[in-house]
Amino acid sequence: MRQNPLCAWVAYKIGRPPTRKNILQHQLDALNRTLLSAQRNSEFYRQWYAEFSGRALLPRTDDGLLQMQSLEQLCLLPTMDEALLRTQGQAMLCTSQKEIHRIVTLQTSGTTQNPKRLCFTQKDIQSTVDFFEYGLQNLAPAGARACILFSAKRPDSVGDILLQSFHRIAIPAFAAPLEETVEKNWAFFLENRCSVLLGHPVQILALGRYGKSQGGSLPAMHGILVSGEPVSDKMKARLESLWHCPVIRHYGLTETAYGGAVSCGAEGQHIREIDLLFEILEPKTQAPVKDGSYGEIVISTLDREAMPVLRYRTGDRGRLLPSPCTCGCALRRLADRVERLGDTQGHPLPPQVIQGQLDELLFDQPQITNYRCSVSKKQRKLTLQIQHVSPIESEPMQRKLRCLPAFADYEIEIQTTPFTQMLNNVKRSLEWVD
Ligand SMILES: [Zn+2]
Repeated sequence: MRQNPLCAWVAYKIGRPPTRKNILQHQLDALNRTLLSAQRNSEFYRQWYAEFSGRALLPRTDDGLLQMQSLEQLCLLPTMDEALLRTQGQAMLCTSQKEIHRIVTLQTSGTTQNPKRLCFTQKDIQSTVDFFEYGLQNLAPAGARACILFSAKRPDSVGDILLQSFHRIAIPAFAAPLEETVEKNWAFFLENRCSVLLGHPVQILALGRYGKSQGGSLPAMHGILVSGEPVSDKMKARLESLWHCPVIRHYGLTETAYGGAVSCGAEGQHIREIDLLFEILEPKTQAPVKDGSYGEIVISTLDREAMPVLRYRTGDRGRLLPSPCTCGCALRRLADRVERLGDTQGHPLPPQVIQGQLDELLFDQPQITNYRCSVSKKQRKLTLQIQHVSPIESEPMQRKLRCLPAFADYEIEIQTTPFTQMLNNVKRSLEWVD
């Protein structure tokens, strides 16, 4: 196997050979820089770390600020969650407003909660461009042309960051107009003679199934990168057999300034450890799990300028692979399987389990390209809107859905929509209406 370009990224970022020892030393130094900046410049962190109960166990600087002597001491700091980010986000800022280059506001639909607002300086965004510049070389060899199905409308949005990264490695890249239908985006993909695709798994499935429905085979591809939602092994295999090319996963969140962990083509996803520190914690006790075990993914940003997040509980479940990768890169790997921790909230099963069951049942039908499902517990009714490239019969589909134990006694209504009305930026969805 050729050397993973991410080794060169590590060396470039830390100015030393990309060994495990050097990565860990960099992480400790960067964590202390971030901690000091947070306590000196952010109203929230100053107060929070001055008052938390475990403070006495940690070493302090002469002016009384917390710092770490080892990475193991990180677990003595309190964790933070999304609710804290929503309510205290503004007070977490470590820079002046005028240094803020990009603000991302995330509103959860159907709630009255404060929106989640994340701020980044130009350097924060450029660190992600650096990571992708190297990470994407695993996906796109010289001569490739890339089609991006993530939104690139705003400067420094995820699609725009990918465009900047491809530009640095001289790979022509094109952002598809997402407000257009799959039909028009297919034409866009063909016109630009792309051999690399990046997007949500369902977008890529829909594009391929539509392309195939137009007769003939799909163009020869170098590779596909999927991100933005959990990708089951079955979905990955489905995409690989549809497009006849390798499919690699990427894990990232807005909180990580998008880039988080990316596959080199072997198992797992190499973590962006120069800029991020990952921990896996037991969700209830918040104690670190045994190496290689599943738990909640908890993230600390290193050298983040605008709004560092420290021990941020992502709500995602994953594990770290304990052994080194065959590609020789010393960056640790997040295992491929990542899913939302979920909360059953009285639903028949955790939402991610239902979503997984629906995915398997529906996407196994080659003519289905997307779906939206809403469930009413009060009315015991499931309404499913299915988008397709060729007609489907409702009756057998209803029978299959009734075989799912959670919906055995539910009324099932199926509406079908042809692909011509399907926008390319609509994710599959599952929602409980009551
Ligand atoms: Zn690797």
